Amino acid sequence: MSTNTSNGALVRIKDVDKVFHRGSEEIHVLGGLNLEVAQGEFLALMGPSGSGKSTLLNLIGGLDRATRGTVEIGGERVDAMSDRALAAWRARHIGLVFQFYNLLPVLTAEKNVELPLLLTHLNKAQRRKHVAAALDIVGLTHRAKHHPRTLSGGEQQRVGIARAIVTDPTILLCDEPTGDLDRKTGDEILSLLQALNREQGKTIVMVTHDPHASHRASRTVYLNKGQLLSEAPE
Ligand code: ADP
Ligand code: MG
Repeated sequence: MSTNTSNGALVRIKDVDKVFHRGSEEIHVLGGLNLEVAQGEFLALMGPSGSGKSTLLNLIGGLDRATRGTVEIGGERVDAMSDRALAAWRARHIGLVFQFYNLLPVLTAEKNVELPLLLTHLNKAQRRKHVAAALDIVGLTHRAKHHPRTLSGGEQQRVGIARAIVTDPTILLCDEPTGDLDRKTGDEILSLLQALNREQGKTIVMVTHDPHASHRASRTVYLNKGQLLSEAPE
């Protein structure tokens, strides 16, 4: 994709509001939010539970739509795309990593990793090659034929990361990727994300509660009252 935007930012979010409706209640989650993420950045997104971190990640990933404002990624107005165009855009440009891995239990590690490729035009041999490369990057070649239940939490997250990178997405979005792991295993996952960022130039936006995790990022922003701060609020 072209990453030539007028100001060089890969992600450019301007004046975004997000309001949820629950019955007659309006929940104002984001209000006048602005964010720019450069190509090759590793951004940590922090904030208390319920502050809208996942909501913001979903807007960047085209999984949800802003109530107001613009979301531009790689020069493309994601907020203006039709649902159909957005789904195709997402498959091509976004890799998602979840706290609880979201692997399909009936599929082996390699079949889980292959899933996003089924939405592409790659043939079986090409898919196999990409899956092998992704499993190699996360260090799980020897677990390719294993089912998720036979893998440790850290290994399952590695499969989750392999699945997220197998399409070589423009951006990797990680929602509390170490939230269910012990410190040591979490550190290994963070090292892997850091390597993807530094060695492969992957742009990463990572939601985390853990200051330890945010220290691995190149920049940290804090969600506070619907807007982003560059320093932790008092
Ligand atoms: P965080 O990830 O920071 O914990 P979320 O982005 O998940 O926070 O949620 C922010 C707020 O928006 C919460 O109050 C949550 O209940 C509300 N919210 C999130 N998604 C929805 C939804 N689909 N419908 C209604 N309210 C929602
Ligand atoms: Mg969340």
